[in-house]
Amino acid sequence: VYHSSSTRTKLKGKLLDGLLSADFNEKTCSSRYQSTLYRKTSPHKPSPHLISTLRSYESIHRRCSPHTESYNKTLQHFQPGDHSTARIDCKYLVHLWMPQGGLGNRLLSLASSFLYALLTNRVLLIDQGHKAVDLLCEPFPDTTWALPLDFPIKNQFDTFNKESPHCYGNMVKNHIIDTSMEKSFFPFMYFNLIYDYDDYDKQFFCDQDQNFMRGVSWLVIRSDQYFIPSLFLIPSFKQELRKLFPEKETVFHHLGRYLFHPSNQVWGLITRYYQAYLAKADERIGIQVRDFKSTNLPFRGLKDHIASYYLPHLAVNESVFNRRNDSYDVTSPLSYMMDRILDCSVKKNLLPKLKPIKNPQESVSVVDYQSNKNPKSKVVLVTSLDSRYFENLRNMYWENPTINGEVIGVFQPSHEGYQQLGNLTHHMKAWAEIYLLSLMDVLITSPWSTFGYVAQGIGGLRPWILNNPQKEMDYDLPCHRAKSMEPCFHFPPFYDCKAKIRTDTGARVPYVRHCEDTSWGLKLV
Ligand code: GDP
Repeated sequence: VYHSSSTRTKLKGKLLDGLLSADFNEKTCSSRYQSTLYRKTSPHKPSPHLISTLRSYESIHRRCSPHTESYNKTLQHFQPGDHSTARIDCKYLVHLWMPQGGLGNRLLSLASSFLYALLTNRVLLIDQGHKAVDLLCEPFPDTTWALPLDFPIKNQFDTFNKESPHCYGNMVKNHIIDTSMEKSFFPFMYFNLIYDYDDYDKQFFCDQDQNFMRGVSWLVIRSDQYFIPSLFLIPSFKQELRKLFPEKETVFHHLGRYLFHPSNQVWGLITRYYQAYLAKADERIGIQVRDFKSTNLPFRGLKDHIASYYLPHLAVNESVFNRRNDSYDVTSPLSYMMDRILDCSVKKNLLPKLKPIKNPQESVSVVDYQSNKNPKSKVVLVTSLDSRYFENLRNMYWENPTINGEVIGVFQPSHEGYQQLGNLTHHMKAWAEIYLLSLMDVLITSPWSTFGYVAQGIGGLRPWILNNPQKEMDYDLPCHRAKSMEPCFHFPPFYDCKAKIRTDTGARVPYVRHCEDTSWGLKLV
């Protein structure tokens, strides 16, 4: 097909500088082609090596896709018999989600599994149990990433956890496998890369173990984590990662925009909302407020969140909490959090101060009739499970004029109250809101929230992270600018594979550092 040079430029823009394949039917997934109508062109270009790696991955995925000859041959490994000498054409990585995980966690872990699949020449297939097809378009052309429903061990997935006999860490612990062996003859292995993984599972991030699992046809990974920062610390991946991502902080920015295209139904939610409420403003500000549980306390501290979900499994971090045990006055919890949001918005010049009205007769008209100029308009997109932040902010800018005459509109698409696991519409709204946040010019996000991480990464934005009441960050400031747009790996291993001792993995290389919002997390900068 011949394309004129202007068509070529347009096409290049649409395909995000070569990140996306041209081999798709536009109608099946509008968001893939229309995102550029809503988003500024990213200043971060994918490296030529990333582009060529993605194109060759796509062709391998097609060749190995479900029910092809190669796929069927690999399934024979699940039959009894000695397959040690059989040639394998294709190797696979099956990604499982945590059943109780939120969308942010799911997307971050999926991107991590995809990068791991790229690095190890595996084909990524995802378990269909969690309605991914209703939320996301197929990312690879002319094939599918959905694991077939008749996959031999599918009915065992629910039983896979860190205790199960197929779990890698468990097998190492019980000396069932010896990683100094040249090769493994297991048809499949399960890796438990979730927040509660133990030190044996953490050996996933060691070269010797990576070497050992190279021969296994089927790896099954369950994860809720953005484990990419620790992949950058595995020596055998270093060189390839350097070529794929010369700009370290763009890993999720590129992978997220490559993989995660909202389904047509979600795209409808996004575009209708954008056009109706956000499109006309001169500037767009996203404020993401995550309470971590819908209770009367609008911002429950990190400790409460951890206590309810994680603490029983987490002996190692106990000291971190003790350090932060000082109490703080929460006489008015709503204004407490609200104060931080406002303080951050105003101090960082994101939103204007209010103008005190001394005389009720004073003119507060927003239109300057002499110059016939409309004032600058800003919109604030608030996302939260709770509606009170939005209501406060909207009323504040309705009931008072601003000091510089700017007009501030405040909108919130939904206030779902609480996280709802089995409700598809709830997940669609969450995805639409994450994506809308990613279309903003500036972001203020809540600490510790993967919901915000996905938005900042896809949008290529370095957010202002609200300080949290547990003093994780500098107490005196309402918010902190993130060092990079990358998500944080909340539960990284602290293990030196060679010395076999605990070590600070955030101090090994300059581009993997501790996160602003969790002192023990790791992020690429
Ligand atoms: P995290 O818990 O903040 O790291 O983010 P996750 O996305 O992993 O999990 C939180 C889940 O709660 C989301 O996936 C949504 O289902 C719901 N949720 C949290 N905040 C919001 C919000 O602002 N809007 C909507 N629609 N849902 C939210």
